[in-house]
Amino acid sequence: MNYEAVIGLEIHVELQTRSKIFCGCSTAFGDEPNTNCCPGCLGLPGSLPVLNRRAVEFAVMAALALNCRVQERSIFARKNYFYPDLPKAYQISQDDFPLAWGGYLEVDFPEGSRRINLLRAHLEEEAGKLIHAGDSIISAAYSLVDYNRAGVPLLEIVTEPEIRSGREARLFLEELRTLLRYTGVSDVKMEEGSLRCDANISLRPVGSSKLGVRTEVKNLNSFRAVEQALNYEAERQARILDEGGEIIQCTCHWDDSRKATAVMRLKEGAADYRYFPDPDLPPLTLERSAIEALRDKLPELPREKRQRLQERYGLNAEEAAIIAATREMAAFFEQAAEDYSDHRNLVNWVQGDLIYQLRESGKEITQLSPVLLIELLELLDGGEINRPVAKELLEEMVKSGAAPRKLVQQRGLGKIADRGELAPLVEQVIAENPAAAENYRSGKKKALAFLVGKVMALTRGRADPQELNRLFQEILKK
Ligand SMILES: [Zn+2]
Repeated sequence: MNYEAVIGLEIHVELQTRSKIFCGCSTAFGDEPNTNCCPGCLGLPGSLPVLNRRAVEFAVMAALALNCRVQERSIFARKNYFYPDLPKAYQISQDDFPLAWGGYLEVDFPEGSRRINLLRAHLEEEAGKLIHAGDSIISAAYSLVDYNRAGVPLLEIVTEPEIRSGREARLFLEELRTLLRYTGVSDVKMEEGSLRCDANISLRPVGSSKLGVRTEVKNLNSFRAVEQALNYEAERQARILDEGGEIIQCTCHWDDSRKATAVMRLKEGAADYRYFPDPDLPPLTLERSAIEALRDKLPELPREKRQRLQERYGLNAEEAAIIAATREMAAFFEQAAEDYSDHRNLVNWVQGDLIYQLRESGKEITQLSPVLLIELLELLDGGEINRPVAKELLEEMVKSGAAPRKLVQQRGLGKIADRGELAPLVEQVIAENPAAAENYRSGKKKALAFLVGKVMALTRGRADPQELNRLFQEILKK
């Protein structure tokens, strides 16, 4: 039978505040385990939570960027469950009264752009991090726990089940990451866990509106894993349904090395968590004017920026997406475009060689001045250097920040147009290739290109081809 997948995502975003959400401990990533902890985030008796204002501001900004309705009053609730990474045996989260309702993200899918609606966004605290011995949580002989992460502020974003494939889930997450990176509230690094995603998926016959039994997939550590795990799960469920079997509601773990899901536990319902309002925290109240002031702090968002770059600089959609992938890259491009009018040439260099060299050298675009790129392009446009030299200089410029004009002088990379320098090379090539020289003299014009090519090779492309043509013609006429 033909099925349609119904996919909803739950995304956890670590907000990049300097301290934790309910205490003053550092949120630095990668510190020695269990060094950024206090009685508060370890849940010792008698300690009380104090809400971090910055975490609230960041959460509101993200919610506004996602078109959510931010609530003037929301309530922190205890989500009760016992797990080794949760020393209080409850997580401070939000339940019936979240920070924000609704919202949407517009995503460009291959079939066209579509809004994916959001259900809600709420604030909560991170749990600690379990480090399992061996490759897999299921086969681990033991696990270690690091409480440095316990209490890092999290924004949980829940989508409506409007995503239809693993590919769509991936594109949605990539767009979400770009948007959140723009707002500056999170570094959204999936590899460091500051952006994480759980997905639930069910199947229904195409055309039906009835919902099937869903499974939840956890441990999706990369965009690729999200796509693969959902495709795997869709195929697995379809096979069971086709054989007349029944899908069992459960939580599964994606095993990236086996490229398969494995059942972790049968799914709990919300009732199992025994949510209740946290008696240690008053309701979170926000003035409408304060919410609007945070909206004013939002930068131009990716969708608007891509649109504007297309209109203003004549970029196509794909180019605009590459240039506007980060605010920093777009700022670099726009700064360069102000002083360099050949925007077509500029975008070709930025999206091609420049981005390639940044990736190769591990440098950030903010480490490079647009002035240097313009200097390089002007050397090339003015014929002072050739293209291979320009590429070589770009690599050097990205690596060391050296100015291209200076490099040309230091290394003698400029074009050789001096007849005194070229003439001996022309003589040499004629002497070494008497047959070609004879062919030219007897009227085969093509032989000239061959001879010019030989001098080009000797000078690694730096000889001025027009001057060479003239020299060969003069010398061969003698
Ligand atoms: Zn603490």
